[in-house]
Amino acid sequence: MVDAAINHTAVEVKVPEGRPSDYFGKKVFGRAAMRKYLDKRTYAALLDTMEKRTPLTREVADSIAAGMRQWALEHGADHYTHWFQPLTGGTAEKHDAFAEPDGQGGVLEEFSGKLLVQQEPDASSFPNGGIRNTFEARGYSAWDPTSPAFIVDTTLCIPTVFIAYTGEALDYKVPLLRSLTAIDKAATEVCRYFDKNVEKVFSYLGWEQEYFLVDESLWAVRPDLMLTGRTLMGHESAKNQQLEDHYFGAIPTRVMAFMKDLEYECLKLGIPVKTRHNEVAPNQFELAPVYEEANLANDHNQLLMTIMDKIARRHQFRVLLHEKPFKGINGSGKHNNWSLGTDTGVNLLGPGKTASENLQFITFLVNAISAVYKHNGLLKASIMSATNAHRLGANEAPPAIISTFLGTQVSAVLDKLAASKGDDAIRFDAKNVFKMSGISHIPTLLLDNTDRNRTSPFAFTGNRFEFRAVGSSDNCAEAMIVLNSAMAYELTEFKKAVDAKIEAGAKKERAIYEVLKQMIKACKAIRFDGNGYSDEWKAEAKRRGLDCETSTPLIFDRYLDRESLKMFGDMGVFTKVELEARTEVKWETYTKKIQIEGRVLGDLAMNHIVPIASKYEAQLLDKVYKMHQIGGLNASSDILLIKKIQDHTASIQKLTGEMIDARKVANRIEDPREKAIAYHDTVAVCFDEIRRHIDKLEEIVDDQIWPLPKYRELLFLR
Ligand code: ADP
Ligand code: MG
Repeated sequence: MVDAAINHTAVEVKVPEGRPSDYFGKKVFGRAAMRKYLDKRTYAALLDTMEKRTPLTREVADSIAAGMRQWALEHGADHYTHWFQPLTGGTAEKHDAFAEPDGQGGVLEEFSGKLLVQQEPDASSFPNGGIRNTFEARGYSAWDPTSPAFIVDTTLCIPTVFIAYTGEALDYKVPLLRSLTAIDKAATEVCRYFDKNVEKVFSYLGWEQEYFLVDESLWAVRPDLMLTGRTLMGHESAKNQQLEDHYFGAIPTRVMAFMKDLEYECLKLGIPVKTRHNEVAPNQFELAPVYEEANLANDHNQLLMTIMDKIARRHQFRVLLHEKPFKGINGSGKHNNWSLGTDTGVNLLGPGKTASENLQFITFLVNAISAVYKHNGLLKASIMSATNAHRLGANEAPPAIISTFLGTQVSAVLDKLAASKGDDAIRFDAKNVFKMSGISHIPTLLLDNTDRNRTSPFAFTGNRFEFRAVGSSDNCAEAMIVLNSAMAYELTEFKKAVDAKIEAGAKKERAIYEVLKQMIKACKAIRFDGNGYSDEWKAEAKRRGLDCETSTPLIFDRYLDRESLKMFGDMGVFTKVELEARTEVKWETYTKKIQIEGRVLGDLAMNHIVPIASKYEAQLLDKVYKMHQIGGLNASSDILLIKKIQDHTASIQKLTGEMIDARKVANRIEDPREKAIAYHDTVAVCFDEIRRHIDKLEEIVDDQIWPLPKYRELLFLR
């Protein structure tokens, strides 16, 4: 019956003309367009701003705006918008038409430097954690020239930051840019121990976006999917991912059509998408681009999430970016591949060819794991949310404990270095250590590529770290902010320690080795190469003093720890006011999400499930009654079924009532943190119990009248 509702035919995709290199970046006001549409002086000034962050003059801004307007109009745009990333998640845009009345009954296409550079969106209802009182409910959006403008449909989108009247960050981009400045400064200084020519260090991000697709007609009759992004009930399908036949399997035709369409749009927008494949769970897929500078990569991921949704609709799908849309099968993450590289072209997290390059590599590697060790709780806070909480700690995703996996080879190098005594350390030749492991004939990038630990939340994969705990719906900026800031702080401390030793008369190399040795020993607890999913690890991690908190609202506290305030403050990334405001927004968002889920679950339980179960129960009662009338028939199985339905419906009614009462109590709490804790401890805990009874009913109630599409119907696209 349900199957009939699905249109299995693939939407025809307009085959793009030419090769990707012909249309890549066609909708982006990138360097090629800039050269064409800006005069030489303006182009040079803009490059200076992009590369060296030199402030733009109003005059230059006016020239850029004129060029950009012309390019946009020629490419079919009729509106423009400042495109920003508020703390609600997602992106925000308010479109204005280029056309302005000319005062003589006609219109003219207007776009000045002023409109390009700064706007004051009436955005008082974006969350701000109390930073903007209503009387100064002004937020400004300001152009970020380091990320190019682009056209979506007929709107020119200008990437902007979003700040309060008083200067505090109200978005993800401001702190991300600040953290990139901090890592650039700190890492460049450390690089100069090894190479005086380094002038700039970039942070790179390569995200891997996992997602589910469901048929739109089925999605539309699942209020839980529509309103919360996940199924709040649903019995496991007899077949799900046991056979692992979906992973890397053939992509269904309909899905392939969607993917091709999506990739075409992405390429036109300059998103360098590269890899697509099926994921482990049925209907789960992944898309990954080639890595880019972190700010641009993050804008591209934000843009991708919006476009995905749009294209999915075109193909009568809905894309689910929730971390755990279905119980019992894998959830979705967004691995963040992170590395640092110099303007001289060296990847600081990749082993080099010379001993000096390898010492530099070990320096950055050790600083990274030390930063992760010191801020492991904060790093967890950066990826924690009401939705990602379902994924972490479950038996298929990184545990809710942050540790790092380095692989046997790199681990051995660090241990050997830490154990070296006296002058051994300076004689320690990292180049030879890597050679000794018998891989000198393999290109360095392949180091450790086969030595993988899928259970580690923060794994070294040969030339980068892969932060796997990030959620599929997350804004990657949050993880990147913490990682880059903590790393910048660590490198700054490292440099102080090394310089102190040099001042006291030590040779540079020796000083570096000595400090590294200390650091390797001090952060040993963060290294874990075993199975992160095991219970033994939970006990072990606790003994090691790693953060093992599992309650989402309490994990947010880490942002306000003394060490976090100092680290963010010293690096110029967040002020205390900003951190207080942001955690407040986190608690409020958490509460709202659980509140919505509670409401939807309550409605579904009482309006959909209980009435249908009762209807079936009434049918059975009628049958039993008639059987008794006839006499001589055995109705015991039916009576048993009636009793079961009775038990489950009664439990659902009772538990739903209790959940509603708990919500009422929690709603009276004023303090956002306390309220979130109450929602976590007293409301969210009811969900699974209610669901258990509903899922039992799903197994016994007549399939013909069951009101919701089941997992087996939702999960197997053809
Ligand atoms: P896997 O699934 O095996 O981890 P993928 O190819 O799906 O690998 O994704 C790897 C991601 O890591 C891609 O986005 C890739 O561009 C990115 N990546 C590769 N090298 C680096 C690097 N040095 N820094 C950051 N990201 C990188
Ligand atoms: Mg990966």
